[in-house]
Amino acid sequence: LDTIQITGGRVVDPASGLDAEACILIHQGRVVSVGRDPISEGPLTIDASGLLVLPGLVDVHTHLRTPGEEGKEDLDSGTRAAAAGGFTTIVAMPNTDPAMDKPGLLTRMRQEAQGRAAEVLFAGAVSVGRKGISLSPLQDLARASAPMFTDDGNNIRTAGLLRQALVQCSELGVAVADHCEEPSLVYDPGIAEGPIAASMGLRGVPESAETAAVARDLAVAAETGGHIHIQHISTGTALEMVALAKARGVRVTAEVTPHHLTLTSGDVERLGSLGKVNPPLRSTRDRDALRRGLAEGTIDMIATDHAPHLASEKDCPFNEAKPGVIGLETCLSLACSLVEEGLLGWPDLARVLSLNPARLLGLDDRGRLSPGSRGDLVLIDPGARWIPRAEAYQSKSRNCPYAYLNLQLKGRVIMTLAGGRVVSGRPWTMGPG
Ligand SMILES: [Zn+2]
Repeated sequence: LDTIQITGGRVVDPASGLDAEACILIHQGRVVSVGRDPISEGPLTIDASGLLVLPGLVDVHTHLRTPGEEGKEDLDSGTRAAAAGGFTTIVAMPNTDPAMDKPGLLTRMRQEAQGRAAEVLFAGAVSVGRKGISLSPLQDLARASAPMFTDDGNNIRTAGLLRQALVQCSELGVAVADHCEEPSLVYDPGIAEGPIAASMGLRGVPESAETAAVARDLAVAAETGGHIHIQHISTGTALEMVALAKARGVRVTAEVTPHHLTLTSGDVERLGSLGKVNPPLRSTRDRDALRRGLAEGTIDMIATDHAPHLASEKDCPFNEAKPGVIGLETCLSLACSLVEEGLLGWPDLARVLSLNPARLLGLDDRGRLSPGSRGDLVLIDPGARWIPRAEAYQSKSRNCPYAYLNLQLKGRVIMTLAGGRVVSGRPWTMGPG
């Protein structure tokens, strides 16, 4: 259907400051109007009474596992998982096989990703093969639509390489994102240094693995004027460093994952290998500092770090397990719990899950609901309660700590529209106008 209207919902659009009941009219995939009276006959009408209506969510950190590991996830399952979680744009990380370091590969993957339940953008690798030796052809990759660069999974190997990347990317107008863990300080990956690691016979990862890497990145970014984006920040100390750098005018943004906002190293005892993530879950103090940092704006956005793995790669001894958890389908609900706790308002939630990620990617036609912007919307029932069941996920993988913990989540995605098309949702909430 060409024209669709969403009526009766509470529309939250931080870009315009709107937070009120309003009707949204979408025609040919674009928003035509927000706040005009509903049209009585003609368009398909979705009654959003009692629901929140936000701009479609944007995830700047998704592992889609393709090309190379389609048994874990692929374009189809990954975009369906995104749509189920309210995400209409996702950025696939380049730690694939082969790595995303060639414009031809990027163009081919972009073509294959067309027409899916969510738009997929592909971050380029900073270095060839993500090996940290020589720079990828950043300019050609950016021309082929790479919205940012990262060697995610690996820390950008040297300060010199980072500096070259920041200089080039600054000219290209894109950010360099970094997985901030200094490898020589990662003794046993995926678990914080401390008594829990020790009880498992592991040395773990000290805080300095992150702070040393963040300090280096901020110093180099300050000198070049380039935009550094700190991926999955996990410690209160790194947060303080980012706050200081921001105050000094360094072009830095930071993301935090839902799991670092909700779980701690204490949970690893119960979760076992399901609690193994890079960077590791840290102390309650760190978690609470990250929550405050998000509320105060030092942390710009939530990013899922959705990391699908086979059951056999998690159902094994901790030190043999692969790091990471899936996150696309639970992220919004976990963020809703921060609203319920009074840490964020709904406009803040839309800012950290949609507007700010869209800005990082330089996409000004999404992350907002104004005439001309893409018809990307998520309808949320803030009062819904549900217990996630891994078998019911759209993702091919099941490595979800919240399902394992049998945790009740608050707030749920009811429907997702991408480009004016319903890509996820329950049919009984729809009806003809
Ligand atoms: Zn990472």
